[in-house]
Amino acid sequence: MSKFFKPLARNASRVRVLLLIALGLGAGSAMAADGVQPAALTSVPVFAKPYPGPAHSIGSPANGCLAGAVALPLSGTGWETLRPGRNRYWGNPALVAFLEDMGGRLASQGRLLVLDMAQPRGGHMTFAHAAHQTGVDVDLMYRLATEPLNDEQRAAPVLDSVVTSDGGLDPARWGDAQTALVKAFATDPRVERIFVNPAIKRALCQSVTGDRNWLRTLRPWWGHDEHFHVRIKCPPGDGACIAGAALPPGDGCGKELAWWFTPEAALPKQPAKPKPLPPIRAECRTILGVE
Ligand SMILES: [Zn+2]
Repeated sequence: MSKFFKPLARNASRVRVLLLIALGLGAGSAMAADGVQPAALTSVPVFAKPYPGPAHSIGSPANGCLAGAVALPLSGTGWETLRPGRNRYWGNPALVAFLEDMGGRLASQGRLLVLDMAQPRGGHMTFAHAAHQTGVDVDLMYRLATEPLNDEQRAAPVLDSVVTSDGGLDPARWGDAQTALVKAFATDPRVERIFVNPAIKRALCQSVTGDRNWLRTLRPWWGHDEHFHVRIKCPPGDGACIAGAALPPGDGCGKELAWWFTPEAALPKQPAKPKPLPPIRAECRTILGVE
């Protein structure tokens, strides 16, 4: 368990967002990552099924919606879908195809453990995420399953942190297999960015030799010590999908990473007040069932 990062996963202060902009991360990435927990939104209906019709990821991952979503099956060649009771196994068809493909490519090593994707129509979730709204985001565990899951394992997975209390990586939970898993995603041209705990990014910055270009795709963020968050690029031709800010040049192992280990990054531990939600964009109001 990361004492240092995990309690910080619920807040992003204005100061912090401004600092991130100053560091070149950009408002897009700052606002779109997990860990920015907005005020609860109680007036938006929760749909059990997708909005029918062609697939569109509309808006940005932190303020958007999803039409024509498809479900990732509970299991397949090289993956297992977790916590199906949340009904967050939906995505743009491009995301589902991507996961099926990655599962197949990695099947000789094990089975991907797939956590939240999006709700059937995307949109804001009432708990756990600020992003995941447009069907291009997926959370994956750092470990692979070695055999099919039973219902209990699928419904209540053990989510152990790979980060130790002193900011290192637990050798029992992080090794070459984890590095290879994250690298497989970070080097895929369909991926826009990946959020990992700063301790993971730091450890990889210190240990990876040879090709280090893929480290750039790994963006440090609060939490993400028991899963990593993969965001694919806007599906080709989906003009309503808003891409994230371009990644800054370089491997991201310099001063922008160092900031995460300053006292500034550790404050505040509790949000002063809930972060207001952005208004639901006009193109999403019908899909999300709001007037
Ligand atoms: Zn996520």
